[in-house]
Amino acid sequence: MANLHFHYGTMGCSKTAQLVINAYNQNKNGNKTEIIKPKLDNRFSENMVNSRIGISAPATVLSSLDRWSPAPDTKMVLIDEIQFFRPSDIDRLVHIADNSSVIIMCYGLMTDSNEHIFPASRRLIEVGAKLHRMESTCQISGCMRLATHHLRFDATGRVVRDGDQIAVGDSNYKSVCRQHFNMMYRGHGEKTR
Ligand SMILES: [Zn+2]
Repeated sequence: MANLHFHYGTMGCSKTAQLVINAYNQNKNGNKTEIIKPKLDNRFSENMVNSRIGISAPATVLSSLDRWSPAPDTKMVLIDEIQFFRPSDIDRLVHIADNSSVIIMCYGLMTDSNEHIFPASRRLIEVGAKLHRMESTCQISGCMRLATHHLRFDATGRVVRDGDQIAVGDSNYKSVCRQHFNMMYRGHGEKTR
């Protein structure tokens, strides 16, 4: 089994729910797990990962992984919102994965709402993490294509085309297919759904 994994998908594709289920199953089998999330994610309660379908689990909140190590008896580390960490944090995970038997499961987004890859996500690809795409469908009503992109909207419902790559909370985002992204972000093409 590969020991460094990246489970990626758009917002709302059940990444956190899968993380919680994975940890639950490992614990049930007697394998100790640790769940980590980045400090800047304040969407819900601190020290918990919370999925939209209602399941949650305790988590350690860290702003950096640079000096972090798993406990000696930990078998699997599960990290939510990995895109909010830094490339150097990914290098720390590589060091842990390659110098211990701990399995590291990262969960997060590949790209932001300007179609740019997150630095930590790029680093995971560069270092050869095993990639697992988690699929969901476009959130534009009636569209059944694969959601691959994010659109960010302002308070008046207009598409935001600049700004911070890292924004906390997802109430102003939609996960959409590439065609709808190009149509709504760039004004390309006809509505073809
Ligand atoms: Zn679509």
